[in-house]
Amino acid sequence: MKGNNMHSLDTEKTESQVRERDTLSHIMVHFVRDSSGSPIGFIAIHRGTKKHPAFGATRVYDYEELKDARDDALRLAYLMSYKNALTGSLYGGGKGVIIMSKEDQSNPKRREELFLSYANEVNKLGGAFVTGADVGVSMDDVRLLRNHSPYIVGLSRNPVLHTAQGVLAALRAALKVKFDNTNLHLYSYSILGVGKVGFAILEILSQAGAKVSVADINLSVIERVRREYPNVEILSPENLMYHSVDVFIPCAMGGVLNAQNISTLPVKIIVGSANNQLSSTYIGDKLHMQGILYVPDYVANGGGLISVINEYEQNSDEELVRQVNDIEDIVLSILQKSKEKNIAPHRIADDIAEERINTLFLPRHH
Ligand code: NAD
Repeated sequence: MKGNNMHSLDTEKTESQVRERDTLSHIMVHFVRDSSGSPIGFIAIHRGTKKHPAFGATRVYDYEELKDARDDALRLAYLMSYKNALTGSLYGGGKGVIIMSKEDQSNPKRREELFLSYANEVNKLGGAFVTGADVGVSMDDVRLLRNHSPYIVGLSRNPVLHTAQGVLAALRAALKVKFDNTNLHLYSYSILGVGKVGFAILEILSQAGAKVSVADINLSVIERVRREYPNVEILSPENLMYHSVDVFIPCAMGGVLNAQNISTLPVKIIVGSANNQLSSTYIGDKLHMQGILYVPDYVANGGGLISVINEYEQNSDEELVRQVNDIEDIVLSILQKSKEKNIAPHRIADDIAEERINTLFLPRHH
């Protein structure tokens, strides 16, 4: 047997290679400092050129240690290069992280100070890094950043809606491959996390007449679902993972698919917006062996990135919508190749991304 067996025997080596790729292959890591010179975060640039800089949203998080923040920036920056490569974009990947304690996050003065320092650091890179909002960054924060830096995006269009539409495009491809029928209302769905993207997906699926179950740890979000969609089933996050449905849509945090839960996951397709859904690449191989069709997260959730790049390039709405809908064809070709070669889809996507990145950008050591 080829493909997965080979990968599973080689798991340890593969995992260590992945870690190296996550943290060692970047062009640069820039320290972000506050006005007193103390480090408050990082900007990691994985790939990018003068004409096509690194794109990647900025995350605010209460990291325990400086090292955790740096590793998060490195990991997410390479992921952004992959995301760009898969959608055919010429841009590179980067990521900014700001370390902010819960206390600082809710102190408006300190919050503003930290964002101003951050904008200053983004400006020092002279356009090599273009950024917007990720977890922990509000639209007000983005507006503040934009007032102090021209390299901020995500203001004139709402990337969330395009992320949701991109997940839907990826879902259509998965339904085509698995069931040869893309009528959304024929299937049952579970959504983990009904925040910005999860809720937008819930709205589309409900309007299509589909049967949907949801779970979230935030009670106010659950209340909103109850109020606006009384027919939607509400479960605890734990129970949702045992709930039998056709399609599982992870829209909360990373690492949701792990060795503990995937052997009992009663679903046929997994496609969602959450970044880093696989706790390790081996989990993707296991899903493939179990016959669960997993759409690689960074392909399915590329709509938000496509949105901010189109804003940066000042393209028309029509062009943006066309590019987001193209995710369907991209996913289709990955899934078809996966079927033909009997290799898990995330491996196919990684190979395509790496080949493209190596063609587009000069390797670091040459
Ligand atoms: P969000 O913060 O608005 O929503 C996330 C939701 O998940 C929240 O309601 C939160 O309460 C819930 N949640 C967190 N941990 C949970 C858990 N353990 N169990 C159940 N629910 C939990 O974020 P978002 O913008 O909707 O993004 C969702 C995911 O998609 C994130 O992983 C994000 O990185 C990714 N993503 C978002 C975009 C975008 O355009 N916003 C683009 C690409 C990827």
